[in-house]
Amino acid sequence: MSRGAKAVIDLRALRSNLQTARRAAPQSRVMAVVKANGYGHGLLRVAQALEAADALAVASVDEAVVLRDGGISRPIVVLEGCFDQEDLSRAAELDLQLALHAEFQLQLLEQCELSGPVTIWIKIDTGMHRLGFSPESATAAGERAMASGAVSKPLRWMTHLACADDLADSRTFTQLERFADALQGIEGERSIANSAGTLGWPAAQADWVRPGIMLYGSSPFIAGSASASGLKPVMILTTRIIAVTALKMGDEVGYGASWVCPEDMVVGVAAIGYGDGYPRHAPSGTPVVVNGRRHPLIGRVSMDMITIDLSRAPNTQPGDPVELWGAQISVDEVAEAASTISYELLCGVTTRVPVTVVDEES
Ligand SMILES: *Cc1c(COP(=O)(O)O)cnc(C)c1O
Repeated sequence: MSRGAKAVIDLRALRSNLQTARRAAPQSRVMAVVKANGYGHGLLRVAQALEAADALAVASVDEAVVLRDGGISRPIVVLEGCFDQEDLSRAAELDLQLALHAEFQLQLLEQCELSGPVTIWIKIDTGMHRLGFSPESATAAGERAMASGAVSKPLRWMTHLACADDLADSRTFTQLERFADALQGIEGERSIANSAGTLGWPAAQADWVRPGIMLYGSSPFIAGSASASGLKPVMILTTRIIAVTALKMGDEVGYGASWVCPEDMVVGVAAIGYGDGYPRHAPSGTPVVVNGRRHPLIGRVSMDMITIDLSRAPNTQPGDPVELWGAQISVDEVAEAASTISYELLCGVTTRVPVTVVDEES
């Protein structure tokens, strides 16, 4: 019998979430973001399941190579672009589309000898101040890219929203204005919206939307639940109870004796910990579902185990099912309790956790 921790990946939910993105942005094409191992759900598995996406987006050429090696022939956009000439020639050979965000990438284009032209997305920094050319310098950068002779025409244009997760934050409008102003009279396809932009800012949808986190069933907004946005959880992380003990008032639980029983209580141990990707910073009180009911985590999260207050379910037995996040507790709720975001939790599930895939046929 295996230890118990496992992740179920529901590809039906993934496809349904893609449809939700399409319905939200019916005039736009969809570039499904599958970087970072498909946000922890398996890069190739997710890319294959999302055959209805018009394009896929990854962070690096290395991630794109995995997709091409796996037989994915759809357009692939590399969001951080190229780092050296080797990247650039691999991108041209594999017909990858490249973001171009910095002077050094322009120089790579100017110095390269490619087999054929590459499709380039010029990235404009409209306020996030991470990557991209300033609105004032973007079209000049585009002209230099064209003059290199290495790129397909017309160029494409993108920017990234910093605060779209907050529907009350007017900085998104400022970013949209800067993008539109910088590109007045310039031809070429445009892309602005991440998941929050796709669902919450119709003016950001443009020619291509770039949903990531929403495809995996997590809400992109600071307030509001995934289910309210019509999203379904794709990853369900479960394990089982491996011990149940009756403790006395004053007994200490776990490393550092950080939990002291305030009264006589029943404590369950579940086989999951930070070695599996459950967040070590989840504090006492974080909800855990045992046999379909919520109970509070107590004490410190260890590498292989967590402890749970089962005083309201004293008949719980070793072997009983535990859900950490997925169907009965959203990953967003756990993330909030652990002072992080769903992205980090989903990306952080480790290779020790066996994966079971659920699809139409199963
Ligand atoms: C990761 C990323 C996205 C997707 O963002 P989500 O918040 O996961 O929807 C879109 N665009 C760029 C440039 C990204 O890096």
